[in-house]
Amino acid sequence: MRYHSTNNPSHRVDLKEAILRSLPPDNGLYMPDELPVLGEDFWRLWRDLSFQEIGYAVAEAFFGEDVPEDALVEIVDGTLEFDAPLVSLAEKDHILELFHGPTLAFKDFGARFMARLMGWLTRGEDRELTVLVATSGDTGGAVASAFHHVEGTRVLILYPKGKVSGLQEKQLTTLGGNIHALEVDGSFDDCQRLVKSAFLDRELSERLNLTSANSINLARLVPQSFYYIHSARRVDETPAFVVPSGNFGNLTAGLMAMRLGLPVAGFVAATNINDVVPEYLDRGDYRPRPSAATISNAMDVGAPSNFARMQAIFGQSWEQMKATISGLACDDASTRAAIREVWDTHRYAIDPHGAVGWLAARQWRESHPDVPTITLETAHPAKFLDVMEQELGANTVEIPDRLAILADREKVATPMAAEEDEFKSWLESR
Ligand SMILES: *Cc1c(COP(=O)(O)O)cnc(C)c1O
Repeated sequence: MRYHSTNNPSHRVDLKEAILRSLPPDNGLYMPDELPVLGEDFWRLWRDLSFQEIGYAVAEAFFGEDVPEDALVEIVDGTLEFDAPLVSLAEKDHILELFHGPTLAFKDFGARFMARLMGWLTRGEDRELTVLVATSGDTGGAVASAFHHVEGTRVLILYPKGKVSGLQEKQLTTLGGNIHALEVDGSFDDCQRLVKSAFLDRELSERLNLTSANSINLARLVPQSFYYIHSARRVDETPAFVVPSGNFGNLTAGLMAMRLGLPVAGFVAATNINDVVPEYLDRGDYRPRPSAATISNAMDVGAPSNFARMQAIFGQSWEQMKATISGLACDDASTRAAIREVWDTHRYAIDPHGAVGWLAARQWRESHPDVPTITLETAHPAKFLDVMEQELGANTVEIPDRLAILADREKVATPMAAEEDEFKSWLESR
C-alpha cells in the first residue's frame, strides 16, 4: 500500500516511511491511498469472531501487502492482551471500557500496536530510533509503557508542567531506562509545536532517526478501530458511537471502522469547552485556537491534529461530515454533575472524560430515542482521583495496583522552556 500527504496527494511514500517518519515534510498527515474495505466474507462472520480475529482482519486489510501474516498475528496478539468490556448502564446507554491495559487508558491499544509494528519495520537495523511524543496526559504513559526496555529505542516525552494529574505524571517520569520525560513550561499545544518543529527540521530528524508516537502516527489509529467493531456486535441494533475527543485520533479510527464496512448510526464528537470541532460542525468554519485547561485534561486541545484526516475521509465536505458526526460540548460544572449523576443512578464511577461523553450521549439520544449509544470510556477513574474524590467522596474509586505502586516512586524530569530553539539545541546535545 502507498500513503500520501493530506496536503499533497502526489507526495507518496511506502509503509515504512509513513510510520517511521510519521509526518510528511509539507506538514500534512499520511493517509493510505485507499481506505480499505473488509469483504462480505468478514461481515458474514464478524459477530462470531474473537477480538483477536477482528484485529487480524483489520490489520491485514491495512498492512497485509507490506507485512507478512504471521508477523501481523504476533503484533495483534501482543497488543490485545486485555479485553474491552461493554457495560450497560441502561437499555440504550452502553459504556465501552477501554482502560484495562497497563496504563489504564485507551491509548494502550495504539501504543502497543505501534511499538510492535515499528519493531518489525526496523528489524535487523542497528541505528537507535528516537521516539518523540507530546502528551496531554495519557499518551506519554502508554507510549512509555509500550516501549520500555524495547532495545534500539529511546523515548522522549514532552508534557505540560502542572497540567497533568499527579498519577499521570508518575506514569511518565518514573520508568527510567530508555524513557526520558521533559517537563515543558507551557501548554500541550506548545509541546506539540516543539515536537513538530523537530520533525520539520529534516537534517535533525534524519540524524537522530526521529519518529513520532503521537496520534498523527497512523500505526496508532488502526488498532483503535478494532474495538469499534468488537463492541458494535454486542448490542442488538446498530449503535451510535460517542467519542470523548481531543486530538480526534479515536474518532478518526471509528470513521475508518465505518469505511471498513461497520454499520453505524452515527458518531458524536464530545468535547469539553475546547470545542473547535463541534463549532465547525455547527457553523462550517474551522477556527483552531489555544486550548483552555479543564478537568478532562486529555481533551484540552485547541488545534486537533487529526482534523485533516477527518476532512480527507469526507472528501473535504462539511455537509458530509455533518451528516455522520454530531458535535456536543460541555463545561466542567456539567461534567462534575454528570459524574455524580452516573454514580447516584447507576453506582458506576465514570472518569471526567467518559462523563463528557455520557452527557453528550444522553443529549444525542433525546433526538434519536431508538438508537443505542456506545460511549467510549477512555480512562480509568483512578487516574483522576482528585476530581473523583471531590465529587464522590474518598474511597469510592478503587485504585488498581499497577497505579498504586507508582505513588511512592520518584519523579525524574528535565525542565524545558516552550522554545523551539532551546528544545532543538537540547536534542542536538544528546
Ligand atoms: C487522549 C485521550 C482522549 C482524547 O483522545 P483523542 O484520540 O486525542 O481524541 C480522551 N480521553 C482520554 C482519557 C485520553 O487519554
